[in-house]
Amino acid sequence: MTVLRQVHGADVVRVDRPGDRSGTCADAAWTTATGATLAVRTADCVPVALYGYDSSGCSAVAAVHAGWRGLLAGVVEATLAELANHGIGHVRAVIGPHICSSHYEFGAADLARAEAWGGSSVASTTAWDTPSLDLAEGMRLALGRGGATIDTELGRCTASDIRYFSHRVRDEQGRTALLVCLEHDESAGEAGD
Ligand SMILES: [Zn+2]
Repeated sequence: MTVLRQVHGADVVRVDRPGDRSGTCADAAWTTATGATLAVRTADCVPVALYGYDSSGCSAVAAVHAGWRGLLAGVVEATLAELANHGIGHVRAVIGPHICSSHYEFGAADLARAEAWGGSSVASTTAWDTPSLDLAEGMRLALGRGGATIDTELGRCTASDIRYFSHRVRDEQGRTALLVCLEHDESAGEAGD
């Protein structure tokens, strides 16, 4: 398994075989290698799985970790650009559990930076009526900019759902992992036998 050392940046690594590049400082990994599992770990940030294919039908998957810093750094667009550079399109996304805008209180200065990046729609308010950031909206914007379609948005909030870890609200050290892997199709090689 490839587990990245996440740094809230925009670096993307290509994984060529199982376990390749594990421990690399990056926030996104992608592969066309069957059996190579890619992992990102989150506790309030947004985990995203991407999958697409090229003109020859070769599939690719990616795992992305993006909090607000990663979103503004452009990690989602960088991953989609990397896939596109390798001819991979038709990309769909699954958005995992993350902190929702009702629970993600945000400072005015950082919120202004986020709005400069994504427009006023990324600004929201908490349940207690203070400024907040809408990470889901930011993720939708970034995926749209990169040409990806959202397949599934889990819609679970890590702050309010104790089945997930929350760094901000409960100061938990644990992380929820999102794993992606291209499985080898056991039946594919048997068809012509
Ligand atoms: Zn919430």
